[in-house]
Amino acid sequence: LPAALRVRDLDVTFTGRRGTVPAVRGVDLDIAAGEVLVLLGESGSGKSVTARAVMGLLDPGGVQVRSAQTVVAGHDLTAADPEQVRKLRGKTMALVFQDALSALNPVLSIGDQLGEVFRIHRGLSRRAARAEAAELLRLVGIPAPDRRVRDYPHQFSGGMRQRILIAMAVALGPRLLIADEPTTALDVTVQAQILQLVDRLRTELGMGVLLITHDLGVAAEIADRVAVMYAGRIVETGTVAEVLDGPAHPYTAALLRSVPDLAQPGDRLRPIPGSPPNLLALPSGCAFHPRCDRATEECTVTRPQRRALAVPGRSAACHHAEEAVDAPV
Ligand code: SF4
Ligand code: MG
Repeated sequence: LPAALRVRDLDVTFTGRRGTVPAVRGVDLDIAAGEVLVLLGESGSGKSVTARAVMGLLDPGGVQVRSAQTVVAGHDLTAADPEQVRKLRGKTMALVFQDALSALNPVLSIGDQLGEVFRIHRGLSRRAARAEAAELLRLVGIPAPDRRVRDYPHQFSGGMRQRILIAMAVALGPRLLIADEPTTALDVTVQAQILQLVDRLRTELGMGVLLITHDLGVAAEIADRVAVMYAGRIVETGTVAEVLDGPAHPYTAALLRSVPDLAQPGDRLRPIPGSPPNLLALPSGCAFHPRCDRATEECTVTRPQRRALAVPGRSAACHHAEEAVDAPV
C-alpha cells in the first residue's frame, strides 16, 4: 500500500488586518498505511491548521497554503486545485471533528445521515443505504444497530455520537483518517473506548491516522510515532516511546513535566513557564527560548533547523538536542 500521507515543507500563512501570521512553517509529515501519527502541542501551535490545510478545508480568503509536496495515498495534491482536493475528501481522506453534536444534523435520523454517503457516492436506494448505515454502526460498536438507525442524534450519548462521526468518516474506506481532538469533550472512560475503536479500525481497514491532541495521555495510548509542534513548526519527531521516555527537545520535556498522567512516581509537576508565543511577534532565534531552561546566547540569535538525530526517524529542532537524548540503544 502507498503511504497514507507524505507532506514536505508545508507553509500556511494568514493575512488579515493585524498583519501576516505564519501559522505553519516547514511541516513534514509521513504516515504509513495502518500507522498512527500523533501531532502533539499546545493550542495555537498549528496542529489544526496543518490538518485543515491537508484536507483543503481552510477558507481560501486570506490564507496561503504552499508545500513542496503533498501526497495522500498515492494522489499527488501538491499543485491540486480545490476541486481535485474536494473529490478526495470522504473517499480517500476523511476528518473527524471534536464536537459530534454540532457536526450531526439534529433533524435527520442517524440512518439517513449515514446513508446519505452511500446514496450520493454509490447510488443506493434509501432502504439499501440504511442497511449499509446499520452495518457501519455495527462496525463502530453501537448496540442494536438495526433499530438505532432510526434514532436521532440527541438520543445518543456523547461517546456514541463520537462513534457515529467516526462511522461517517470511515464509510467510504478512506486511506487517511484525520482526527482533531476527537476525545476532548468526553470523560476519561469513554475517551479510552474511542481510542480503542480508532486503534481497531486502523488495523481492520489499514488506514493511516493523523491524530491531533494536546493530551500526552492520548498520545501514549495510541501513537506509533509522535510529532511535537511549537509555534507553527515541528520541533521533535520519533516513536512514541522515544519521545515520551527521552524527549530531545526542551519543549517536549517541559510538556511531559507539566501533566499528571505521565509523571513518574515522586516527580513534581511543573507548569511550563511563560505563555505560548504570539505568532505575530515571534521571539528571535528559537521561538521557545524565553521559556526554555536550557537556552544559551546562540538560542536567542539563531533559529535551530530541525535535524536528524542518531536514531533513525528521530529529529529535533534544538541547538542542544544531543545533550538531552540518552545514547542510542
Ligand atoms: Fe531551548 Fe535553545 Fe533548544 Fe530552543 S534551541 S529549545 S532555546 S536549548
Ligand atoms: Mg486545535
